[in-house]
Amino acid sequence: AGRWSLHGKTGLVTGGTRGIGRAVVEELAALGATVHTCSRKEAELGERLREWEGKGFRVTGSVCDVSVREQRDRMLREVADLYGGKLDILVNNVGTNFTKLTTEYSADEYPFIMATNIESAYHLCQLAHPLLKASGSGSIVLISSVSGVVGICSGSVYAMTKGAMNQLAKNLACEWARDNIRTNSVAPWYIKTSLVEEELARKEFADSIVRRTPLRRVGEPEEISSLVAFLCMSGASYITGQTISVDGGMTVNGLY
Ligand code: NDP
Repeated sequence: AGRWSLHGKTGLVTGGTRGIGRAVVEELAALGATVHTCSRKEAELGERLREWEGKGFRVTGSVCDVSVREQRDRMLREVADLYGGKLDILVNNVGTNFTKLTTEYSADEYPFIMATNIESAYHLCQLAHPLLKASGSGSIVLISSVSGVVGICSGSVYAMTKGAMNQLAKNLACEWARDNIRTNSVAPWYIKTSLVEEELARKEFADSIVRRTPLRRVGEPEEISSLVAFLCMSGASYITGQTISVDGGMTVNGLY
């Protein structure tokens, strides 16, 4: 592949049927990559796969709940079969949130968010390691959040998983550099997706978010997928272990 292309590359993107994951699948595929993705809903996944086929994208998919260990094992066996034991790109995108105060999280919610957001990403990195190594130059991208970079007054469990992702990117950057695998974290601020649709529908809340953002708007999924694609190209070959915020300037905490 050329510097600005993903032609001939293979990728696994978790949670590709909606939002940021969907944009990432489409960006990678449009740049020439062959992509495998997953979600929990068979009908929606099938709909997307037909859409992508119509656009001439090379995308396959499995129904897989990435919070369940056996389902992760099964999907990675499928990916190994599909791509002959090699994989160039792993994008750990699945993540969920309950925007709550710390005193309100229930006993079930804590392990659910941990399993969905961080345990899944950690284990998928472990499972993908031999495949990424075999490719000769692997790229892992973790979709984190600015809530793992700065402090926010709700969603502490979610923020902990995102902070952990940012640290994981640093550790794997060191451990797997010898295998020519780069690992980076991408940290979005509010992006228009189904995850935050309800929150942003409350005008007062949406206004408070925009006021906190130098660019004075929330983001679009395509403003995340462009960076994810770049991090997977040879043009990014010296970038590893970084957490890059895509946030309209929110984290600079400046005067504006
Ligand atoms: P959405 O909820 O809009 O989309 C999530 C996607 O992941 C869907 O395709 C969903 O399909 C799939 N998914 C969810 N849970 C699972 C699971 N357990 N197993 C497999 N697939 C699953 O989310 P976003 O696009 O907004 O978020 C993507 C990532 O970006 C997350 O990690 C999120 O934390 C992060 N992020 C988002 C921000 C935002 O403002 N939107 C801001 C900062 C970070 P299905 O439900 O059918 O399984």
